[in-house]
Amino acid sequence: MSYQFVEEHSSAYKVQWGINEVLYSEKTPYQNLSIVDFVELGRALVLDDAVQTTIQDEFYYHEMIAHVPLFTHPDPRDVLIIGGGDGGTAREVLKHKSVRRVDLVEIDERVIAACKKYLPEISCSFDDPRLNVIIADGVEYIKRPENEYDVVIIDSSDPVGPAIELFSKDFYKDVYHSLRPDGIMVAQTDSPCFNAKFFKEIFFSISAQFSLTKAYLVCVPSYISGFWSFTLGSKKYNPVEDYRKEPVIATRFYTPELHKASFVLPRFIEELLK
Ligand code: SAM
Repeated sequence: MSYQFVEEHSSAYKVQWGINEVLYSEKTPYQNLSIVDFVELGRALVLDDAVQTTIQDEFYYHEMIAHVPLFTHPDPRDVLIIGGGDGGTAREVLKHKSVRRVDLVEIDERVIAACKKYLPEISCSFDDPRLNVIIADGVEYIKRPENEYDVVIIDSSDPVGPAIELFSKDFYKDVYHSLRPDGIMVAQTDSPCFNAKFFKEIFFSISAQFSLTKAYLVCVPSYISGFWSFTLGSKKYNPVEDYRKEPVIATRFYTPELHKASFVLPRFIEELLK
């Protein structure tokens, strides 16, 4: 182990990672990008000193952000991913045979290039002909489509830099309009442990648009606190009742039982979201 990397949640809470090797590093027009090989959890994408994904636990996050909405919608055909430049969410979405088009809107083309080279296990679906990569700001892109998507997945970085507006009320309003009348959106919504106030605000911003809004929880070891949230907004289907119970794709984390169980919230979170 030659280096240490410190991920700082605040001046009072930091996570120290041992690094075998820094494989790549660049300052892009949007953020500092690194690909590192951690002693624990292996190769990883790091943006602005925040761990985004590691090859050993990426499937916890990518399977749960993708399959929960895709197994709730009965026939997902057109899917939009905002962010997600590592390709992990697209890889999972494209496992669904019903899906005929995935638009992936990533602001930073350098993230895609670096992940294609150094994280091929995660970025392996960029050559799928159903995937259209659009290099653009998701906030601007989402203003155009009307009734176009069955599922919109917001796989953004944390609310800093170019991702701040991806957590705004106006953005969720535009997401709502981009969806068909039975559409579903899901967003990664941070740690309910360390960022409870933010998580609550986002939940209410999404529920201001969608008749059904539900948070679900996953443990992602490489994220600060491990405890991570997603928030789903739906125009019609209830992810706890309407999900398909016999998925026919290969998964390592997602199961139909876990799909349902992940919506069972600890009491303090139920209280927070009242
Ligand atoms: N799984 C990760 C997490 O929760 O830490 C997020 C994955 S990821 C690679 C997030 C991506 O969102 C980054 O590649 C970043 O460039 C992209 N992004 C940030 N702001 C964006 C915006 N306004 N429009 C489109 N993509 C954006």
